[in-house]
Amino acid sequence: MAGTFRRCLFCCTKARGTKEDMAKDSYEDAIAGLSKLLSEKADLEGVAAAKIKQITAELESDELDPVEKIRTGFLHFKKEKFEKDADLYGKLATGQSPKFMVFACSDSRVCPSHILNFQPGEAFVVRNIANMVPPFDPKKYAGVGAAIEYAVLHLKVENIIVIGHSCCGGIKGLMSIPDDGTTASEFIEDWVKICSPAKNKIKTAYSGLTFKEQCTNLEKEAVNVSLGNLLTYPFVREGVVNKTLSLNGGYYDFVNGSFQLWDLEFKITPHLSV
Ligand SMILES: [Zn+2]
Repeated sequence: MAGTFRRCLFCCTKARGTKEDMAKDSYEDAIAGLSKLLSEKADLEGVAAAKIKQITAELESDELDPVEKIRTGFLHFKKEKFEKDADLYGKLATGQSPKFMVFACSDSRVCPSHILNFQPGEAFVVRNIANMVPPFDPKKYAGVGAAIEYAVLHLKVENIIVIGHSCCGGIKGLMSIPDDGTTASEFIEDWVKICSPAKNKIKTAYSGLTFKEQCTNLEKEAVNVSLGNLLTYPFVREGVVNKTLSLNGGYYDFVNGSFQLWDLEFKITPHLSV
């Protein structure tokens, strides 16, 4: 119901420790309840047996329900990280000063903090479909523009890195758009078309490759288009010209477990800066 306050699932709930502990507690509670029920109503024996079977199956499964997953995840973080590094979290409570801005794909396998070991406070991160940076356009791409503006002008990050990755569904989607440009999705294809210049380049330069190989090449070339698009933001361009800001491309291959990093030779002269 709208406007209804719901019980806090974290702080109002007793901390129980590990997932195993919780599962054990739940199991023991359930068994105790069922035993009581059975002692009171013998004809419920069949129902109780079925319930025990269901609880056992749940215990044997690795799956926790979503709320439990989040609750145990946060409790783990609080106990193992937050409470063990009071200096870091105390400092972060007063502000942030990250050196990096990172563009990464929303893909669940490519979290930049995970693969590059960024600690809290080290990287200002934007994640979207296929880790794309659109060109400067305050009306069409205000969300991304606001993040770049904040990172560069307010946080004064020193490096922006755009990270592509292997087996990217967004890039495959871009590669699959027919030549006549017709689209079937509400948002996805329009978004990934940001890197159409890279697709055109790949289709021309690597016409002899398989579709999968073309996608792999496009995953990297699209990063270069995004790096070029970053230069359409006046404050990014100014930072690059003044050498207070550097731009890098990256590529994470989670099949082979490798990471590539590169920069581009931007041909920018000061008088062209805005
Ligand atoms: Zn992706």
